[in-house]
Amino acid sequence: MSDTRHFQVVIAGGGLVGASAALALARKGVSVGLFERRFCGAQASGVNYGGVRTHGRSAEQLPLAVRARRVWNRLPELIGIDGEFVVSGHLRLARLDSDLEALHAWSDMAREFGVDSLVMSGDAFRRRYPWLGKAAIGGALCASDGHANPRLVSPGFAAAARRAGAHVQEQTALSDLSFDGRRFQMRAGNERISADWLINASGAWANTVAGAFGETVPMKPIYPNMWVTEPLPRFIEHNLGVYGGGVYARQVERGNCVIGGGRGHGDGEYAQPSTATTRAVMRDACALLPALRDALLIRTWSGVEGETPDNNPIIGLSNTTPRLLHAFGFSGGGFLLAPGVGEVLAELVTVGETSTPIEAFAIGRFTQSSVHAALPIK
Ligand SMILES: Cc1cc2nc3c(=O)[nH]c(=O)nc-3n(C[C@H](O)[C@H](O)[C@H](O)COP(=O)(O)OP(=O)(O)OC[C@H]3O[C@@H](n4cnc5c(N)ncnc54)[C@H](O)[C@@H]3O)c2cc1C
Repeated sequence: MSDTRHFQVVIAGGGLVGASAALALARKGVSVGLFERRFCGAQASGVNYGGVRTHGRSAEQLPLAVRARRVWNRLPELIGIDGEFVVSGHLRLARLDSDLEALHAWSDMAREFGVDSLVMSGDAFRRRYPWLGKAAIGGALCASDGHANPRLVSPGFAAAARRAGAHVQEQTALSDLSFDGRRFQMRAGNERISADWLINASGAWANTVAGAFGETVPMKPIYPNMWVTEPLPRFIEHNLGVYGGGVYARQVERGNCVIGGGRGHGDGEYAQPSTATTRAVMRDACALLPALRDALLIRTWSGVEGETPDNNPIIGLSNTTPRLLHAFGFSGGGFLLAPGVGEVLAELVTVGETSTPIEAFAIGRFTQSSVHAALPIK
């Protein structure tokens, strides 16, 4: 009797991408093994800012973002909780006239994808948002965007995948990965595993998995810096961003303001917040949101995310190995996308194609011949 356990699909990585793929596949009756070297949703997917935002995305990301956004409406049905998902709208602020022009241009482009973004400025804007500082001269509102609690949503998808029949195994890294011409072979801890399909959803560490099949990409780790304040009287109506980036903020039901901006530090495996970033981002945050001036920051953290040179993820089939699918390199924007990516991956496995355009995310856009650094798994 063989001592190798077989799955139709094995997924490396129990972040939101891997977990949503596991759920989508299990719901289609596919035998799926989801392996996470630590705990599901404990990396980028569980420590992120929680922005559920189509606003500001590139034209190539919008079809996927629109599809993903629809999945968020079904969270209670899919994972049994609402994940504190609130359709608050996303307000993208302008500090310069040129920012306003760019917001208008984005709004025109996004309309073609069915995404509405209403640009406001002048007195009407100031009257509507008296809680914003003078640094904001206008903004664009995408009313269908929102925010959610990543600490609930990401492990929630993994738990739902398990309930739907997926084998979900934590504290088990996949290693010794190979393709024998017929099946994928690998180790999951001390166990030998085989699979017809392999999905590489291993986040900032995905070059280690991709490298086993000779196709690493130029991806570097980034460490977005986050903060949360004590509970304050409710004043931030929307999920807030700024054209050009730098600072973003949302306020949860209990009153705490979650703020993001700039970068912390890291070594590829662990991330730490930065004192210098804290000073710079809080200065900007207080200029935009004067009510934050006397607020206590009660927690700060960071996380590890993989960033690609064009800020687009890698999603789709391998160029070297049949039935190997990649889904990584979300470059700081994968929280909204992940539930849609899971559906796309499940379609690719079960139907062989997807109704969502993903050509822009092909791994082949990066040079195949060069070998890029893989983050060591410590
Ligand atoms: C601080 C921060 C703030 C962010 N804010 C936002 C935001 O507001 N909105 C937004 O859209 N996006 C945001 N992002 C980005 C978003 O969190 C990520 O794009 C998304 O979570 C990526 O999901 P993932 O599943 O690819 O990666 P991860 O959540 O990192 O999951 C990958 C998993 O793979 C596991 N793994 C690696 N190698 C192996 C192996 N060999 N075997 C088994 N398991 C393995 C890792 O342990 C990890 O758990 C933010 C990211 C960070 C870090």
